[in-house]
Order: sequence, then structure tokens, then C-alpha cells
Amino acid sequence: MHARHAVVCAIVLSAAGVAFVGYHGRGAMALADQAKAAAHGQIDRKRLLAADKHPEEWLTTGRDFGKGHFSPLAQINKQTVDRLGFAWDYHTQTNRGLEATPIVVDGVMYTSGSTGKAYALDARTGKELWAFDPKSDLRMNRESCCDEVNRGVAVWKGKVYVAAFDGRLFALDAATGAVLWVADTITDKKVGYTVTGAPEVAGHVVVIGNAGAEYDARGYVSAYDLDTGKFAWRFYTVPGDPSKSFENPELEAASKTWDPKSNWPMGGGGTVWDSMVYDPELNLLYFGTSNGTFFDRSRRSPSGGDNLYVASILAINPDTGRLVWHYQEVPGDQWDYDTLQPIILTDLKVGGRSRKILMQASKDGFFYIIDRKTGQVLSAEKFVPVTWAERVDLKTGRPVEAPGAREYKNEFNGKNYIHPASMGGHNWNPMSYDPKTGLVYIPEIENGEAGLFTGKTYLRAWDPLRSKTVWEEPFGGWWDHAGVLSTAGGLVFQGNAPGHFIAYDADTGKKLKDIDVGSTIIAAPMSYEIDGVQYIAVMAAWGGGGWSYVHPENAAYQRGNEGRIIVFKLDGGATPIPPLLPPIQPIPQPPAQTASPDVVEHGRALFAARCAVCHVNQPRSGAADLRRMSPESHAAFQQIVLGGILKSAGMPPWDGVLSPEDVDAIHAYLISISWDAYNKQQAAPKEQ
Ligand code: CA
Repeated sequence: MHARHAVVCAIVLSAAGVAFVGYHGRGAMALADQAKAAAHGQIDRKRLLAADKHPEEWLTTGRDFGKGHFSPLAQINKQTVDRLGFAWDYHTQTNRGLEATPIVVDGVMYTSGSTGKAYALDARTGKELWAFDPKSDLRMNRESCCDEVNRGVAVWKGKVYVAAFDGRLFALDAATGAVLWVADTITDKKVGYTVTGAPEVAGHVVVIGNAGAEYDARGYVSAYDLDTGKFAWRFYTVPGDPSKSFENPELEAASKTWDPKSNWPMGGGGTVWDSMVYDPELNLLYFGTSNGTFFDRSRRSPSGGDNLYVASILAINPDTGRLVWHYQEVPGDQWDYDTLQPIILTDLKVGGRSRKILMQASKDGFFYIIDRKTGQVLSAEKFVPVTWAERVDLKTGRPVEAPGAREYKNEFNGKNYIHPASMGGHNWNPMSYDPKTGLVYIPEIENGEAGLFTGKTYLRAWDPLRSKTVWEEPFGGWWDHAGVLSTAGGLVFQGNAPGHFIAYDADTGKKLKDIDVGSTIIAAPMSYEIDGVQYIAVMAAWGGGGWSYVHPENAAYQRGNEGRIIVFKLDGGATPIPPLLPPIQPIPQPPAQTASPDVVEHGRALFAARCAVCHVNQPRSGAADLRRMSPESHAAFQQIVLGGILKSAGMPPWDGVLSPEDVDAIHAYLISISWDAYNKQQAAPKEQ
């Protein structure tokens, strides 16, 4: 025993000796590494303002404070891009949409995934430094339109800010992922609020909005002290019931644009689910607001009105939380034209004069250039087919609505559909502004509201000053539109739904490189450099609006939807592709129908209201095809829907919303449609 103890001591001593010997050499590096570890996530105002001097970093979701989604790096360029290959990938262990653009600072990548999970990775190797799961409350998913996605983190002075889908805002230690503080940003848990946006650091506060205007939400943003999480201020974007007091004069002014008998319990909408940009030069926070609730103004505000501040861009002083200016793109919105498409800040020479502007390719189909000091609209031109308005009058800033555009059903004027459809001419997917070519690269959608989405999508190179297309590249249907990166290498990068990652010539649109990655891409790529090597990274997984519908050409249909961060570099290897899914199994014979037609009809209505947004009941859809339920699932139907026994698979418990009788009715409806599909399959098995 004694001897053995001595041996252990010797090993310890020799280990200590090695460390000591190394003190002047490797030991000194270890200390430097320690200092670096303590300095994780050290982004501050000085560093943000100097972003162009350090193109190796990507400091915000859009790289710099203006969020142009442009990298000044050029090692990967028109001549070298053919050598682009795989560097590393990281599996997020999620199967829902990934929409975030990662941040990279001092060799560490920070990003977020579905429900507000966050990740810190060695940006050179993909090695996980830490991963964070907010354990978002699934009950909040019961009123969510567009998948449990998250559009990114903010990194500031050693902290990583991320919002959970259920509305809690977290400040994490950038070095360890430990929770430093958490704030619940939701004012009323009974309302259909969820959070999908990235928090924005604005002066001394971190700001977050929310989603829910498809349900019953009253939009607002909330601000918290960066260090302590102490609540600082909240700005509501629409007035509340005028019979109660107003939070501030801006809302009192806004209330004059609403019918006093508006449907106040429905909240009014105007949520802020994306697009926040802080301008350190002018100390202003800009963001767009969503559609009103209901979409149809006559149900929302029966006597009409502009309904400020829905479908608007607002500029807020983050020190006070008060409105500085507003511009309403869509007065009295009728068409679900959220104005939340990512905003880019830059300086442009407009009318011979250099101006500080913001630009937005809006859902409503107009490309806006706005003076960001004053909110004055300098240009608003159609970048996709638009039928709801003829033009925007720059003198008044108001759109000239097309006659009949508010009375549309599937068509109006006897010939035209409403363009754009509710999906918009452009949605959340970031566009990119290349100051070298002067072009904006827009992932756009050409689509009319005709009951079915049948449109095309394009990557469009748009000259914002001449308001014209320089080149365009067609993609698939509405389901295929991904965020964009442009670089000083003269390249534009964009992934697609069939799972290809593509590099285009920024000047001509010529396809220079096409890498099959086998994973659906909807997020925007980004770029960084470590030790002289340029990397391009993109998050990959299908999701977002219409997330449960998976088109057969979608990589997720063929190979599943496991989330990945995929990173490329010159002379990298072959990109690993997920294996093909096994063949689709036949619909099993459902249990006997025992319910009456009335019960089935009640179940159909409940299913349409509560379940159909996720369960589209097609093979390989995002949520389970309920026509293919196993006998075990049929037997456990009550426990699944009310008891939450499939929570780990993402199925929220519906207790408190649905009664056991409601659940039986839904089950009866599902048995009914299962029999329909089963009988059709048995009659013509080859068609299945
Ligand atoms: Ca909307």
C-alpha cells in the first residue's frame, strides 16, 4: 500500500514538474489562453464600430451594426471558389427549423436553434464548448403559427443573450453557457405570445419583441438592463382599449387611427418578431411591426383607419423607450403584410446627397429606402409583382391602393390575385447588401393569394438606387427561399430547400459552385477567418412558416430534418450527406369508427382550429401523419393529447384548452379520415 502511494505521488510530482518547466514557454501560452477564455464574447461599442477593420469577425447576426450580411473577406473568391469544400459540421440534435445566422468572435461561434437552444463552438473545428437548452414551456406552442424557430443570439461584453420560444430572455456566460439572469418577457400567458427573434443590444439595454398577431396578441418590445436583467421599459406598438389610460402620448395619438369600438380583446397585433437593428451612430433602435389582428380591418377596426402602428417601421430611443419617428408602410393593413423583413442600415447617395438610410425589401412588395434620422421615405419601388397598391406617393409617404384591393377573395378586378400573397414578396430570410457592387441580393417570392401557394421564388440582384433587377436566379416553389450572404470575393452564397449550397458571381449571377449537402437550408450563411483561413458557415434544417408541410423535392422529405451547422473552406473535403429515409409505410388499418357523424363533425372543426396548423397529415410532414397512427397511439390518444406523454417529441399537452370529450371527437375525426385514406390505398395500392 505504502509503495503504491509513493508511486502516485511521483506521478503528481512529475506532472507538476512538467507544468513548471513549461511555465516560460507553453505555460505562458496557457495563461494567455486563460485570459482569452475569460474574455469570451467580448464585443463592445468600440469593437462594433470598428467591424470593417476586423473582417475576420462576424459580430452581429448581420456581421456589423448595419447588418448588411456582407463579409469583406476575399480568400474565397471567383477564382478560388471551385475549391470550396467541407470543413466541419455540428449536429444540433433538433429536427425543427434553423433560421439563425451565427456570430463569430475571437474564434468562437455562438448561435441558436429551435425553441431558443444556444450553442458555443470552436469555430475552427466545430467542437462544442457548451450547449444551452432553455427547456421552453411547450404549452406556449399551442398558439404558434410558424414553427418553434429562433433567429439568433446577441453577444455583448461576455454575455450571450437568447430568447426561449416561451418568452423568457436569458443572459448566459459566454465562456460557460451558465445562466446569469433570466427575465420573463410575456405580459399575459393566456395570450398567444411566442418569441422567435434575436435579442438586440441597444445602448444600455437588451431588447426583445414577440410573435402572436395571428392569434390575439398586442405587440410590444421589452428592454432589460444588460448586466442585471432588471426591467427597463416596454413599448406597446398598438394602443389598448381607449376606455383605459394610455401608456404614453404616442399611443394616445395612435388610438385616433382606430375605431373606438375596435376588437380590443383580440389585442390589435403589431407584434415585433424580427428585424430589430440598433444604430449606435444615432442611438436609435429600429424595428418593423406585424399585421393587425384580425387580418381583415373591418373585423379589427370596423370604421377603418390606419391602425397605427401596425405594419410600420418604428424608431425608438433606447435610453427612454419612447418613439422618435414612425413610418407606416401599409396603413390599415388588410393582407398580413408584416413589415418585419430584415432591415439594413448604410449610407447611400440619394439624389446627389449622402444620407444615412435604412432599407427593407418588404413583405408588401415595395423596396423602401428611408432616411433613418427622420423616417422620411426616399424611395419605394416594386421589386416583385404588386397589385394591392399602384405606387407609393413619396410626398405623403402613403401607398396608392388599387381599387377593390380590400374586397378581394381569390381575385379582384375580375382578373388579378392579390400580389404579394400573405407569405410576402420577401419574408424573414436575410437579404444581403454588397457595398462593392452596390446591389442588394434579395431572396424573393412571386406569389398571389389564390387559396393555394403556387408561386416562384428568385434570388434577385437589385439595384436599390435605380430600382431595377440586374440579374435573377429562379428557385423552386414558395417553399424554397433562403437567406443570403455576399462577400468581397465577388460572390453571393445561398442554400436551398433541395439541400444544395450555391455560390454565384455577384456581378452576373453565374453559378460558380454547387455543393450537395443533403440538408434543407433556409437560413443565411455567414463568413469568418481564423489563422488566415476563411470559412463560410450556414445552419441547415427545414422549418418556419408552413413548417409541417414538407415538399417532396425538399431534402428533409428525402433525408429527414436533423439540424446541422455546416462549415466550408477552400480545399476542404466532401460534405457528409444524411442517409435516405426508409420507404414510406402503408397506412395501417384504423380502429372501427364508433362515433356519430355529429361527433366527427365537431372533431373536424376542433382539428381545423387547434391541430391543422402543425398536422397536415401527409407522409413525412413535420408533425406526425395522424392517418398512420399505430394501434398503441390510438389506444393512448387521450394521454398523448391531454397528458403530454409525447412532449419529448414536441407534442404540447392540451389540458385546460380541450376537454376529454373534445379529444374523443378529434380522435373520431382522425379515424374517419384514416379510413378514407386506407380504403383509397387498398383500392389502388400502387398510387400510395
Ligand atoms: Ca403575420
